[in-house]
Amino acid sequence: MEIRFHGRGGQGAVIASELLAQAAFLDGREPQSFPFFGVERRGAPVTAYARINDRPIQVRTSIERPDVVVVLDPGLLNTIPVTEGLKEGGLLLVNTRRAPEELPAPPSIRRATVDASRIALSHGLGTPAMPIVNTATLGALAGATGIVTLGAIREAIDLYVPSHPAENVRASEEGFRSVRVAESTAAPLAVSAGRSPALLVLPEGPIATTPSYGIHTAAWRSLTPVVHLERCTRCNFCWKFCPDNAIDFDAHGYPVIRLEYCKGCGICAEECPPRTIEMVAEG
Ligand code: SF4
Ligand code: SF4
Repeated sequence: MEIRFHGRGGQGAVIASELLAQAAFLDGREPQSFPFFGVERRGAPVTAYARINDRPIQVRTSIERPDVVVVLDPGLLNTIPVTEGLKEGGLLLVNTRRAPEELPAPPSIRRATVDASRIALSHGLGTPAMPIVNTATLGALAGATGIVTLGAIREAIDLYVPSHPAENVRASEEGFRSVRVAESTAAPLAVSAGRSPALLVLPEGPIATTPSYGIHTAAWRSLTPVVHLERCTRCNFCWKFCPDNAIDFDAHGYPVIRLEYCKGCGICAEECPPRTIEMVAEG
């Protein structure tokens, strides 16, 4: 399941995404969480992403077709296209006093609301100008989807929120209890309760959606991937998973690392089935 968070700097969207991932991990799932860094400052729109699966997650790109969109600031509904790419049957959860039926979304989208600002302030989290709504919203997300348990959220807050953990736990519990979900004819999200033996379905072509061709991005590489061709099976996995589209092929189908674009992240070495790629420190 892929979740995209929209908030403003200072509301805790990135922390919400990280806490969700930590809670999923505590529930025994395989999570991933990362922010989108733009020119954030207090009050500026912020995006963060989380993925949760029952098996290791191979994809590392930003989320363009989310199953769930969480909006921590209702003002963003009027300023950025928060539902862009949201799947049919997906869920839009917004921090607002409004009823979920009032949210602007097509009928194929499930809608939920929680008054996380009120909850946060009632527990002393933030100020009226900038309530810190992340934990109340996270509780609401758990209540609306069942994607993580409330117990795991409590534990994640205890472990990873050093400031006001008790108040944040209570805010998440209140968010869990008070989230409102609109009646919908859309098919509900499928939330798996356990590990599945299903195979990983890989997309056609490389997973990098925004190749860095034209911009040389290798300036900060400290490790260089070296392909030991004698063991290479030409499976193309390195090419498929390179987040920078920095791998081409020679005339015989063997991978060629384009060092002017390679950032040295090591994902190709991690994904290569026969461990043919070695990450070597740059001299
Ligand atoms: S280390 Fe591998 S995966 Fe990472 S950018 Fe370089 S070629 Fe791509
Ligand atoms: S993933 Fe490994 S084995 Fe497959 S093409 Fe790349 S280097 Fe060769």
